[in-house]
Amino acid sequence: MTALSAPPNSAQDSERSLQDLIQSQRAFFATGKTKPLDFRLEQLNKLKSAITERQDAIIQAAQDDLGRPEFEGYFEIGVTAELSYVLKKLKSWVKPQKVGIPLSQMPGSAWVQPEPLGCVLIIGPWNYPFQLVISPLIGAIAAGNCAIIKPSEIAPATSKVVAELIESTFDPSYVAVREGGVETAQALLAEKFDHIFFTGGTRVGQIVMEAAAKQLTPVTLELGGKSPCIIDSDINVEVAAKRVVWGKYLNAGQTCVAPDYLLVHQDIKSDFVKALQQVIQDAYGDNPAQSSDFSRLVSDRQFDRVASLIEGEEVITGGQTDRGDKFIAPTVLDSVSWDAPVMQDEIFGPILPVLEYQDIDDAIAQINARPKPLALYLFSRSQSLQEKVLSSTSSGGVCINDVFLHVAIWGMPFGGVGDSGIGAYHGKTSFDTFSHMKSILKKPFWLDLDWRYPPYAKKLDFFKKIVSLS
Ligand code: NAD
Repeated sequence: MTALSAPPNSAQDSERSLQDLIQSQRAFFATGKTKPLDFRLEQLNKLKSAITERQDAIIQAAQDDLGRPEFEGYFEIGVTAELSYVLKKLKSWVKPQKVGIPLSQMPGSAWVQPEPLGCVLIIGPWNYPFQLVISPLIGAIAAGNCAIIKPSEIAPATSKVVAELIESTFDPSYVAVREGGVETAQALLAEKFDHIFFTGGTRVGQIVMEAAAKQLTPVTLELGGKSPCIIDSDINVEVAAKRVVWGKYLNAGQTCVAPDYLLVHQDIKSDFVKALQQVIQDAYGDNPAQSSDFSRLVSDRQFDRVASLIEGEEVITGGQTDRGDKFIAPTVLDSVSWDAPVMQDEIFGPILPVLEYQDIDDAIAQINARPKPLALYLFSRSQSLQEKVLSSTSSGGVCINDVFLHVAIWGMPFGGVGDSGIGAYHGKTSFDTFSHMKSILKKPFWLDLDWRYPPYAKKLDFFKKIVSLS
């Protein structure tokens, strides 16, 4: 009699294959092959070549997923600049860092040795769907880890390009991709990793952190928020308007560090709003739906959410929508109140609410009454105002007299604070994020003073002296 075979169960099969994949990465990590500097540099160079070879496909995928103009699609390739930076610096980062020791510990030597964490998980969003999984991967590889990437299912063309690139460049027991949606993310989160790097919304960030807590896995959460943009009266109106319009409407406002709303000084508001209208007209023409330089919303769901924020507001530019094309025109809303629906959550679309302030202290108080944003922008020539805003607000990062560009300086950490994120990355900070900084103290045998050993009688005074001298 032949035994009946168990009916196929694809959920179980895929759980097993995921566990097999993680096992194979753990086995590869245990060989120590990911650790030498030469190996890391070789893999980073391979990644760089693979991206360069697929440049057109990556830009095309951003166009398919988000209707991105080629120019903005090229932002995804910006990770090669980070790769060049890391390739140049990595040799100095992997070196042990010598640390001075107190008198009470002498003789001896102390140092901090960065070591890789092991197998890490990277979960990405859809808005810059290539860059936001590859940039953390650069850090993971630089620090000597194995990695599994889960790109966003909402940007399927890019997800496919990421999978193809990784599969043809790396052995899966070193770096692998798992494509899929929420279920795939949840299956991954049920496993034990040595670090989880998540980029996405605050709500899902909470889910990720909860899952990570069950495995005691450390997390980096790169989240979003409403990034304010303060426009003082002492500015170059035309330049400021151009910079704001560029940072707000690129990728149709679907940028985590886009200026979410404007707080404009009342003395300049009317001039500034006119300048915004003119710049939008110059950039996207009479009919932005026809402009080849303006992206689309990523999905019907995002379209419905963002379009609903215009309802009931005073539209002074834009406002046109086309659901079939997932198009929302670059829109400016005037005289918006803090209680309006558009002021409750991150907009993440091409709508720019304008609020007015008279007294900067009131504007700062309003900002500080809300969750800490990912970015804060200030346009002002006044040094004292710059200092005041910097010292009395908290945000992931700040850019003065421009927007967005602070995130592309590889020597600076990029990350949120409070509700806008936990931890940071880019350049050396990515290396640190994916490393454990191991503290090491080495002592010789030749001197072994008796003062710390029991019996303690008559030794306390000497102990106190040593401590006070240290
Ligand atoms: P999201 O949180 O909806 O999705 C991000 C990832 O999480 C996707 O891969 C998705 O499959 C997965 N996911 C979704 N629901 C899940 C669940 N219930 N359990 C487990 N995984 C789940 O974010 P999004 O819509 O792709 O991206 C938009 C958000 O990301 C915005 O808030 C934006 O500000 C933020 N963001 C932040 C940064 C940053 O660097 N700080 C960069 C880009 C985007």
